[in-house]
Amino acid sequence: MKRVLSGVQPTGDIHIGNYVGAMMHFVELQQDHECYFCIVDLHALTVPQDPEELRNKTYELAGIYLAIGLDPEKSTIFVQSQVSAHAELAWLLSCMAYFGELSRMTQFKDKSKGKENVSVGLFTYPVLMAADILLYQADYVPVGNDQKQHLELTRDLAERFNNRFGETFVLPEPLIADVGARIMSLTDPTKKMSKSDADENGRINLLDSPDVVKKKIMRAITDSESVIRYDPENKPGVSNLLSLYSVMSGLSIPDLEKKYEGCGYGILKKDLVDVVNEKLKAIQDMYYGFSRGELEMILRKGREKAEAVAEKTLHDVKSKMGLVMF
Ligand code: ATP
Ligand code: MG
Repeated sequence: MKRVLSGVQPTGDIHIGNYVGAMMHFVELQQDHECYFCIVDLHALTVPQDPEELRNKTYELAGIYLAIGLDPEKSTIFVQSQVSAHAELAWLLSCMAYFGELSRMTQFKDKSKGKENVSVGLFTYPVLMAADILLYQADYVPVGNDQKQHLELTRDLAERFNNRFGETFVLPEPLIADVGARIMSLTDPTKKMSKSDADENGRINLLDSPDVVKKKIMRAITDSESVIRYDPENKPGVSNLLSLYSVMSGLSIPDLEKKYEGCGYGILKKDLVDVVNEKLKAIQDMYYGFSRGELEMILRKGREKAEAVAEKTLHDVKSKMGLVMF
């Protein structure tokens, strides 16, 4: 069975972009793949976090993983920091990654822009991500479009290691959806919807109430043309709403264009509110049913399963690099 790995940071509020770009696909993939889904709390530490909040958000994300339909019997769900092999392999790989190639990462450029004290961890973030993936010998990594460059780096590092020390790592392939891989902010459709965006109205959170969802969608930025047409370049706002509608409903974008021919934006938005709220209700009904004790039990089991696989790869890597093994 082919292996899949992906992760989400336990920071901010999980939004609909995270869901349609990545998490929704986790649920389908677990049916016929060996899946590992982690809560990447070490990645979260690359920017300052409140300790209590980080811990709460870690449980919250575990609950959301289950609420969207991940089945702990089928998928291994765990917390990154609980498997120490991630941090260890990240160090070993960082000794093989080049300063120049990391300097070209656009996420680092975006997240460090204008900031005074940028952590070294934010710079080496992609190396930790490579370690996450390579430890499990993942064949596929379902991610949003923004992670494509980090996946390319992961493949480069794996190939470099294999060439130098002999076949060790599987080269992972990104799985990036045709529609929904880059959901844009509702208030500024030229930038992606993000947990870390200060503008709360730009994103729809999976745990938002129906009223809040309605308010955010009805206020979403569109344009003055008033024609419902998919054209991301000239009509980024409306095109973003159509992408969201398409993935949430299963209707294709051309079908939606036909359905709303001659209609105004208000009608499209109103229908999208209903489609989104219906989906979120199902997730929220599940989410509020888990106790912290239940979540801990699932994460503990996940850690054991993940650790067994990760330790095996780490042992092989250390041995090949010449570290003493006894
Ligand atoms: P942050 O702003 O803190 O980086 P984020 O919203 O980018 O938060 P991550 O935890 O970094 O969330 O990413 C989790 C997954 O969601 C990744 O696979 C990422 O590619 C995907 N993703 C993030 N934002 C979007 C988006 N706007 N559209 C589609 N997929 C997205
Ligand atoms: Mg991100």
